[in-house]
Amino acid sequence: MTRKQATIAVRSGLNVDEQYGCVVPPIHLSSTYNFIDFNKPRTHDYSRRGNPTRDVVQRALAELESGADAVLTNTGMSALHLITTVFLKPGDVLVAPHDCYGGSYRLFDSMAKRGCYRVLFVDQGDEAALAAALAEKPKLVLVETPSNPLLRVVDIEKICRLARNAGAVSVVDNTFLSPALQNPLTLGADLALHSCTKYLNGHSDVVAGVVIANDPDMAAELAWWANNIGVTGSAFDSYLLLRGLRTLVPRMEMAQRNALALIKYLQTQPLVKRLYHPSLPENAGHEIAVRQQKGFGAMLSFELNGDEQMIRRFLGGLTLFTLAESLGGVESLISHSATMTHAGMAPEARAAAGISETLLRISTGIEDSEDLIADLDNAFRIAAKR
Ligand SMILES: *Cc1c(COP(=O)(O)O)cnc(C)c1O
Repeated sequence: MTRKQATIAVRSGLNVDEQYGCVVPPIHLSSTYNFIDFNKPRTHDYSRRGNPTRDVVQRALAELESGADAVLTNTGMSALHLITTVFLKPGDVLVAPHDCYGGSYRLFDSMAKRGCYRVLFVDQGDEAALAAALAEKPKLVLVETPSNPLLRVVDIEKICRLARNAGAVSVVDNTFLSPALQNPLTLGADLALHSCTKYLNGHSDVVAGVVIANDPDMAAELAWWANNIGVTGSAFDSYLLLRGLRTLVPRMEMAQRNALALIKYLQTQPLVKRLYHPSLPENAGHEIAVRQQKGFGAMLSFELNGDEQMIRRFLGGLTLFTLAESLGGVESLISHSATMTHAGMAPEARAAAGISETLLRISTGIEDSEDLIADLDNAFRIAAKR
């Protein structure tokens, strides 16, 4: 019987303790495990390679993404580094989105400059550009949807099919929606990847990553390399992540409901020049989002109709939105793309990517939506005053 995701998130790994009958799986901090006898190891020998607490959370994550198995890594970046290590040799081509996560862009760009592989940054919503990149016979194609910070959506099923026909392994960075709202493996991707730091943990107190594979042999190869290069996730992070994961589905539902309420309010606000959210018909890829996502998500962006002084007044007037990078926690966060997440880009590159100097991004939390709206309203009043 296939179980629904809320059930998987809550029950995966419960009641596994034989010794005391613990309902909640205990945390196993030991770095090493004794041998039963000469040349007779147990299931685990060393915690970099395998750890019972990490096993439990990996199983839960694999089930949530409908994959064969999962490999937990110590950061989202090391999950990305792991897949490029496994699937790319010098001379091989990686196709990545032109508007991918800034850390991913920096990783691929710097590794390519060292000759580890070649990278083509492509607008995957542009059919001709994608076809030209696939004609280069890439070994790996990375998809990231919705994008950061403009929440553009691309067609996972189509891109993964084209990638497969071109002989490439496909991987979808599913961080922005979580498995509760989008399942890349059921749409044809070979791999799903997350920064668990975001929605999966959901409480802004863990940094971790995961790769989930559809094929058990691919999962085994990833696990072998994760141990080999030493990027596996720690027992303590695994424990916290499993605890955060229990509430994934209700957290996502509430954050998403709040985001829709904020959008309704922001649409009435004269200081908002432009809004970005996959639920909006004018958003790039809205129709694809309706088809491939189970919800529109809780990330939204908007351009303020004003200058830097107005942004300062607006941000200074907020009390329920913390000025911080990252996303996906229970608390609402706001960030200014030009000086924070996309500060590494040249102003011209930002403009070319459509990221305005007055763009603000909100990661909607699970506070009461009426309080959040009242806080925004107050900050807009302060921003409007000179
Ligand atoms: C945060 C993030 C990453 C990197 O993950 P870390 O856990 O910060 O290393 C990768 N992709 C996306 C979409 C992210 O938001």
